Amino acid sequence: MNKQVRNADYTKQYNRKMLLKLLLKAPASRAELARDIGLTKASVSIMVDELLSNNILQELDCEHICRGRKPTPLTVNPCAFYAFGFFLNREVCKVGIVGIGGQCTELFSLSDVIGYAPSTVIDMACHAINDYMDKHPRIRKKILGVGISCPGRLDLPNGIILNPPGFESWHGYAICNEIKKRTGLLSYACDNADALALYNLRYGSCKNHSDFLLLLVDTGIGSGIVMKNKIYHGAGNASPELGHVSIKFMGRQCGCGNKGCLEAYAAIPMLLENSPYKNYYDLITVAKEDKDAYDLLSLEATYLSTAIVTALNMFDLKTICLAGDIITGFDYFSQMLHERINPVLAVQKKAPIQLLCADTSANYETISGANVLFSSYLDSSSLTLPGL
Ligand SMILES: [Zn+2]
Repeated sequence: MNKQVRNADYTKQYNRKMLLKLLLKAPASRAELARDIGLTKASVSIMVDELLSNNILQELDCEHICRGRKPTPLTVNPCAFYAFGFFLNREVCKVGIVGIGGQCTELFSLSDVIGYAPSTVIDMACHAINDYMDKHPRIRKKILGVGISCPGRLDLPNGIILNPPGFESWHGYAICNEIKKRTGLLSYACDNADALALYNLRYGSCKNHSDFLLLLVDTGIGSGIVMKNKIYHGAGNASPELGHVSIKFMGRQCGCGNKGCLEAYAAIPMLLENSPYKNYYDLITVAKEDKDAYDLLSLEATYLSTAIVTALNMFDLKTICLAGDIITGFDYFSQMLHERINPVLAVQKKAPIQLLCADTSANYETISGANVLFSSYLDSSSLTLPGL
């Protein structure tokens, strides 16, 4: 193939993927797509007709969603492509089959993951995947692979779990290769916080935001930064770890080698250590009436806002999406964060931040896993979607 043909093919693929990404966020007409992609309406119409005939797009019934005469809105056929979503953390492993529209059927769930050898967990999960493919030959043709959300840090190009604390038996485990060996499917992994950020970007609370920080606060602290609709990775392919930004330079020694890390103070078990509260729900429930609880919650808000301001200064973001246990009683706690962060922004002559609550719809964790694979396809210059 000569260079010109190759370039033309690449451009065609790029534009089709751009169109699918836009339509996965919201239905749009041909004219709106042409405007957003920067192509002529005629070029978009050719592309749309091809995708409609391949059953990848669908036309929505205008009468039901539009008032007056408006162009026919298009959407992605939610069953055009599928991926297995694989979610893994210290407590649970879940697998589901997920359509690109975000619909999920759970196939496998295992609690107390730490109690099992990694190969046993992967054997059981892959058995569920192979069993599903045997029973659904028609869907099998549309399955792109397995998307994995698991504890980080990860060696992303090689799909290897590196050294997440409290997850020692999985250190050095080549999760992508092990799944591929057992299922024959292409597998991509990213850490839980990045997967959640990408999920909220495509299906959840951040659909209308191209740049934001997702801050996952529960037993640990994870972070994912989305910039210009893509997850941000550094020079070594790693994600920014806000949990390991120091908030006290003479503070507690952290397992990461640094001192005074945010995670060593603001991860929920660390916050509640030596307090009478069993979990975050207990704390936030009484914080409005009980001064000790209020003071402890205020301390958490101060810890998190200190690190958030650091992130805002470094990445010039305007939106923070909170996820994990910390979203219990979101309105009350987010007010505390606003009170600490916005005065700093005012000094910098910047607008107040927007605090969002991460989406926790049914099966969101499993869908976030599958979406790792959808995102890999839609953002890749080399992976070709079937039928495109
Ligand atoms: Zn640390």
